[in-house]
Amino acid sequence: MTVQREQLEADVLIVGAGPAGLSCALHLSNLIKKHNESSGAGKNGPQLSAENIYVLEKGREIGAHQLSGAIMNPKALAELVPDFEKSAPLDTLVTDDAALLFTKGSSFRFPITPAPFKNKGNYVVSLSKMTKWLGGLVEAAGVNVFKEFGGAELVYEGDGIGGVITEDKGLDKNGKPKDNFTPGYELRAKVTVLAEGTRGSLTKKLVAAKRLDNINPQSYGIGIKELWDVQPGRIAPGYVAHTLGWPVSMDMYGGGWIYGLSNNRVSIGLVLALEYADPLFDPHAVFQTWKTHPFLKKILDGGKLVRYGAKSLPYGGWYAMPRNYLDGGLIIGDSGSFLDSQRLKGIHLAMKSGMLAAETIFDALKAGDTSSKTLSAFPKKIEQSYIKKELWQVRNFHQSFQHGMLRGFVHTAFQQITGGRGLIDPMRAHAGHEAYKKINGRPAPERFKGDGKLTFDRLTDVYHSGTRHEEDQPCHLKVADPNVCATKCAVEYGNPCQYFCPAAVYEMAKEANGGLRLKINAANCVHCKTCDIADPYQIIDWVVPEGGGGPNYEGM
Ligand code: SF4
Repeated sequence: MTVQREQLEADVLIVGAGPAGLSCALHLSNLIKKHNESSGAGKNGPQLSAENIYVLEKGREIGAHQLSGAIMNPKALAELVPDFEKSAPLDTLVTDDAALLFTKGSSFRFPITPAPFKNKGNYVVSLSKMTKWLGGLVEAAGVNVFKEFGGAELVYEGDGIGGVITEDKGLDKNGKPKDNFTPGYELRAKVTVLAEGTRGSLTKKLVAAKRLDNINPQSYGIGIKELWDVQPGRIAPGYVAHTLGWPVSMDMYGGGWIYGLSNNRVSIGLVLALEYADPLFDPHAVFQTWKTHPFLKKILDGGKLVRYGAKSLPYGGWYAMPRNYLDGGLIIGDSGSFLDSQRLKGIHLAMKSGMLAAETIFDALKAGDTSSKTLSAFPKKIEQSYIKKELWQVRNFHQSFQHGMLRGFVHTAFQQITGGRGLIDPMRAHAGHEAYKKINGRPAPERFKGDGKLTFDRLTDVYHSGTRHEEDQPCHLKVADPNVCATKCAVEYGNPCQYFCPAAVYEMAKEANGGLRLKINAANCVHCKTCDIADPYQIIDWVVPEGGGGPNYEGM
C-alpha cells in the first residue's frame, strides 16, 4: 500500500518520553531560552525555539509505560531542576537499606550493607509519576509532545538518519485501512534522538544497519514488579531491602527488591538475567514463588495487589554501549546502555545522558552543523562526566555472572580492588539467548496458578497492568517464520516464548491433526521486549503497535 504522508520538520525529534528523552528536551529548551535572551538580535548564533523540539510518546500519556523499582539517585535531577524538591513527586527518602540473604525458610541480614546496596540519600519514587511531572515541565517550556505516537520506522539519510515515520493508525488486523485510517507522519529533524528505553525497536535496527555495536552484545535482565497496599505497620516508608538467594538458583543471576513507600504501599520485584540455560524456565513463576518467602509473606499478608508490570533492562554497561552518534542522530538512556548493572541504577544516568545530548545538540544547532563530526562531542562529554566514572568501575561486573553467582562473586572481589579491571579486562559476553540448552524430550512443566491472594497467574497479573490495545490491528509481534515455532523450536527448546513472556502472550495451540500452531495474544503485551531479546532463533521482532496501546503503569 502506498500512502501519502504528511511531512513535518523540526530541529530536534526525540523518540521516547522517558527520563532520558524528557531530560534532553527540558535541558535543551532551557539552553535555548538562555541563548535567545542573551543573544539579542542573534549575535551568538541563530535564534532557536523550543517549539522546534518534538517528543514522541507511544503511551496514552507520559509515564504510562514507565516502570522501574524505583530508587532514584537525585544528582542529575538536581542539575536539571535545582529546586526539584519543591514540586517533584518524590515519594520518600531512603531511611534504611538492608541486604538480605534468603534461604527457603529464613533470611539473614548482612551485618554491613555492601556498597552497591547502599541507598541513603536516594529517593524511593514512582518512575511513572516522576516522568509525568517532568513531562509537564517540558510541555510548559513550549516543547511539542505528541502522545500516542510511536516511532515505527527510521528515515535514513546518507550515512545517518533524518527522522522517523510514526505508525499508521486505523489498520485492521490484516493491514487493510479501516474508516478511521490515518497514515503515520514523516517527521524530519536536524537531529533525531533515540530515547526508546530498553531494546528500542528503532535503535535495534539502526545499530544493526550501521554496525554501531560495541565489543559485547547487549545483555538483558527481566524485572517483574508488583505494587501492593499492605496493612499498617508492615513496612516503614523509606525501608529498602535487596534480596539474594532463594528461589533464584546459584547458577543464575538475579535478586529481589522490597521498597517501602508512603501510605502503606510497597514496591516488590525480582530481576533475573535473560541468559539462563533452561528454556522452560518461567521468570514470572519464580517471582510468585519468591513472594511466598516468610519475610515477604509477613509484609504482604492481608494486603492487596494494586498494579503489576514487567520490563527488560540493559545490563551490558560500558562494553555493550553502542556507538551513540552518527550524522543527524544520537542514542541516549537505556537504548544507549546507560545503566549501572551493579547498583541497578539507570534513572540518573539516563537523565544525565539526555542532558549531555542536549548540550551537544545545542552547540550543533548554533553552528548549523549536525553531522557526526559535531555530534561526536557527545561521547566526549560522557567520557568527562560521572557517567564514565560510574560505568567504568563496573565495566566487567555483569559479564562476571554469566556463569553463575559463585564465579561472579570471585571476579567482583578482584574488580573491587582494581577499580573495575578484575582478572580479565575487557571481559567478553555472549548474547543471552545463546545459553539455552536443548530440552531433549523433557516434558512441559505444569504452569503456575497462584492462590489468588498472595500469588497470581499471569492473566490476573496482566489485568493489574492496565494493558489495553486496539484488538483489530496488525499484530505488533512479527514472527519471521511461525513454522520454526511449530516444528524446530517445539522439539529443540519447547517454545520458551510460552515461559519467558510475563503476560501470557504466546501459546502453542494444538491443531486437530496433532500439530502445533503459534497463537499470539498480542493485546496482553506489556511492552517488556523480552521476546525480542530471548527468542532462541531471534525471529521475533517487536514493533510499535498503534499509539496509546500498552500498559498503564500509573503510580508504578
Ligand atoms: Fe514482553 Fe514480548 Fe510478552 Fe510483550 S509479547 S509482554 S514484549 S515478552
